[in-house]
Amino acid sequence: MNAPEPIKTSHVMNTYGRLPITLARGEGVWLWDEQGRKYLDGLAGIAVNGLGHAHPKLVAALTDQIGKLIHTSNIYGVRGQEDLADAICARSGMEEVFFCSSGAEANENAIKLARFYGYKQGKDFIKTVVMENAWHGRTIATLAATDSPKARKGFEPMQDECFVRVPHNNLAAIIEVAETNPEINSVMLEVLQGEGGINLASVEYLQGLRKLCDERGWLLILDEVQCGVGRTGTWFGYQHAGIEPDAITLAKGLGSGVPIGALAVRGSAAKLIGPGNFGTTFGGNPLAMRAGTCTLQTLEEDGLLQHAVVIGDHIRAGFRAALEGVAGVTDIRGQGLMIGIELDRPCGVIVTRALEAGFLINVTRDKVVRLLPPLIMTTAEADLLVAGVAPIIKNFLLE
Ligand SMILES: *Cc1c(COP(=O)(O)O)cnc(C)c1O
Repeated sequence: MNAPEPIKTSHVMNTYGRLPITLARGEGVWLWDEQGRKYLDGLAGIAVNGLGHAHPKLVAALTDQIGKLIHTSNIYGVRGQEDLADAICARSGMEEVFFCSSGAEANENAIKLARFYGYKQGKDFIKTVVMENAWHGRTIATLAATDSPKARKGFEPMQDECFVRVPHNNLAAIIEVAETNPEINSVMLEVLQGEGGINLASVEYLQGLRKLCDERGWLLILDEVQCGVGRTGTWFGYQHAGIEPDAITLAKGLGSGVPIGALAVRGSAAKLIGPGNFGTTFGGNPLAMRAGTCTLQTLEEDGLLQHAVVIGDHIRAGFRAALEGVAGVTDIRGQGLMIGIELDRPCGVIVTRALEAGFLINVTRDKVVRLLPPLIMTTAEADLLVAGVAPIIKNFLLE
């Protein structure tokens, strides 16, 4: 194998610590770089490409749509918004959807919704409870809701006075902070934290939280940007707990790579917003809407939710078997195709080694090897992924 070519980023702002490959094309779970080297995709563009790459149904739908309309404006009716909002509400129990273009933007609007809810209640200041290890985005408000010292550093002042942070999965902690923070009117969390290290909220916690929010008239806002759209085996992560949130945010997997974000609301969070309150130029454009509708339809037609459960369990079982008795593996966890392998030490170098061996994976929170494969991954491809990545983890820990 040739040495990887550094990417020419001279005029591209130096934001991401980029890996030394440039991908040129993909098909299914496979990607090829500009040098023609082949990679097995264990990351799906960070939970975006649920349908893998160049899925025939998506290619056909988008090709058709590009030939008709890409963008009009929200000052006109957009048929595709009606279709996708119906599809999201039918699967989530939500009543209204606002479309935007990213996860951060969806969460930004969720935060604005909580404020507007407070305003309508006659409150002049509200606070939202957020979690330790949360990730909600990089805009000023979502960064304040995010628990990442690395991402926040240098961008202060944060709007920290608008958020109260508590440990994830701990109802008593929320009840406690409520005593000294009467301004609280909402709770925002990921039911399965992604960037925070694949941390699952328990069913009892989520049910208790729903009850608490009902008792206090708080909005329960769930950030489903990473765990939503089928990835955990249900349409949305909270459906494992049988609860109904007041608002959810979606993005990553919804458009299969076409930029999209959505805030969906029900109950007391619905019918709040009117013309002039929310808006965005690109949000809900016909191309993004077609991508979203095609994604949901294809996930359903091809049985990919149930498939995500089977393949996710298969991959976790594979890693458990391959890493059994290896000192340094502290946990193998997750749900559906959100998979975390936690080690007892920082392990970022595993990403580069996997890349050199032809596997695209990720490490988050320094110590958690994270896999977010496309939902179309077959058992045979999952076996290749485990067979390729497990020895890299094992050798790293034996050094
Ligand atoms: C990625 C992510 C975001 C931010 O989405 P962007 O599209 O990058 O702005 C927000 N919340 C969660 C849970 C995410 O995983």
